[in-house]
Amino acid sequence: MGELPSKIVCVGRNYVEHIAELNNVAPSRPLLFIKPSTALTALPEVIIPQAQGECHHEVEIAVQIGTRLRRCTPSEASLAIQAYGLGLDLTLRQVQSELKAAGHPWERAKAFDGSCVLSDWIPATELDAEQPLEFALTVNGVQRQAGRSTEMIYTIPDLIADISQQFTLLPGDVVLTGTPAGVAALAPNDQLELTLQQGDRHWSWAGIVRCD
Ligand code: ZN
Repeated sequence: MGELPSKIVCVGRNYVEHIAELNNVAPSRPLLFIKPSTALTALPEVIIPQAQGECHHEVEIAVQIGTRLRRCTPSEASLAIQAYGLGLDLTLRQVQSELKAAGHPWERAKAFDGSCVLSDWIPATELDAEQPLEFALTVNGVQRQAGRSTEMIYTIPDLIADISQQFTLLPGDVVLTGTPAGVAALAPNDQLELTLQQGDRHWSWAGIVRCD
């Protein structure tokens, strides 16, 4: 995987239909949380914890930051994106529900070993940041989630600019930009396909689920 990022910053509740499916309320500013570098695995390896309830897939557009960003503007953020890919923000949903109900932080549900699964990176120079990105997750041949960057409540540059008000982003850091509707549980031996598309360009990655 090369050099590890100093952090992975994740965005919650950035797609309206996903907010509705979990009976959440739209945030008045981006909802942020961080995964440590020990959460990382690379496709095709998807490792889910045992005996902690359902582990949900959340497929998300991932961006890799190329330069240090602190209190940047959205246009500075756009210029700092080095690469795009897809990520899975694996989530222990029952654990998260209990933490939410207690008003506790989400790390036990979202920052465990293996909870951030990343695809290969596509250099930003190979994409057009002005054009929509479409992405989808298929599990055992059935599409579970599909989204478009244009459906985000906060755009990618706006998210990065907001994140950088609070957390300095360093080269190699990763931002996961939120998941569309369709989250559901993964099971051992599930076969995944993650696809990213822009216009007639298309990338896809396979995943295979196993238990930790
Ligand atoms: Zn997520």
